[in-house]
Amino acid sequence: MTIKELFSQKTVFSFEVFPPKKTSSISVIYDTLDQLHDLKPDFISVTFSAGGSSNNALACDIASKIKESGVTPVMHLPCINYTKEEIRGTVEELKRRGIENVLALRGDINPDIPPKNDFRYASDLIAYLKTLGRFDIAGACYPECHPDCESIEQDIENLKKKVDAGAEHLITQLFFDNESFYSFREKVAAAGIDVPIEAGIMPVVNKNQIERMVTTCGASLPRKFVKIMQRFEHDQEALRDAGIAYAIDQIVDLAASGVDGIHLYTMNNAYVARKISEAVSGIIGL
Ligand code: FAD
Repeated sequence: MTIKELFSQKTVFSFEVFPPKKTSSISVIYDTLDQLHDLKPDFISVTFSAGGSSNNALACDIASKIKESGVTPVMHLPCINYTKEEIRGTVEELKRRGIENVLALRGDINPDIPPKNDFRYASDLIAYLKTLGRFDIAGACYPECHPDCESIEQDIENLKKKVDAGAEHLITQLFFDNESFYSFREKVAAAGIDVPIEAGIMPVVNKNQIERMVTTCGASLPRKFVKIMQRFEHDQEALRDAGIAYAIDQIVDLAASGVDGIHLYTMNNAYVARKISEAVSGIIGL
């Protein structure tokens, strides 16, 4: 069954992992994957560096490992810094490994890496992937507007182009305020976009993450979230438990509102993924 078909049967539940830094042992991520596999996600997606990185070979190995374990892998595929030839090479490699699901992305523009000019937007990549054979293609979306775009209305118009090009389901950027997701979902439906949308949930469980959230992510931070982070930021265990509880609370509310799916940004933390999966398994039908 394809991921698209799965959405018509259940609330899809997926995880995201990233290739670890070179300094970290490969066995750590494989051990994490074993633990994530036991939680029976519908798919696990693997990030891929937009800038070109030796870790991208590892990303492909991780996706293969996920497939071997019987879980569907989804490979992230940013395009802005790649030529058509390079993308075709990666696609051939994915096909050779039997990986048929990709999350087609533009990638962040890095001022130090001049973009190659074959692709400008994710929709260009999707149109190109369509010429390379059968792939299940997902796209990214932004409940609080993509930072490069002037308005959410314009961003949704652009999102429509991505769906019209062939994105079969969407995964959101992380958010902490479910109201922003509900408002986005209404606007997206009004724009005639009718593909399933998975809500991206990131459990914030350590101090480094808090700092990153505040400086880079652009997601609005509700009062309740800020209060929790301020109260527990110096107590590692309390912060971890509070972050897990906040994510569970978000998921319960989303499930009650008929969300199509939950995509958990696991940050390669199997303990956190397990705590959340166990807490919501009856609610989202794991
Ligand atoms: P696009 O859909 O191309 O949109 C980018 C901007 O261009 C938006 O402002 C949009 O409004 C505008 N736009 C789009 N189409 C048009 C058009 N036709 N005309 C005018 N404007 C247009 N990055 C990585 O490098 N590796 C990863 O593994 C990765 N994984 C991610 C996973 C998820 C779930 C998400 C949400 C993001 C991920 N990213 C990743 C980050 C992503 O690459 C960046 O957010 C990037 O800046 C935008 O990518 P996109 O595919 O959404 O771009």
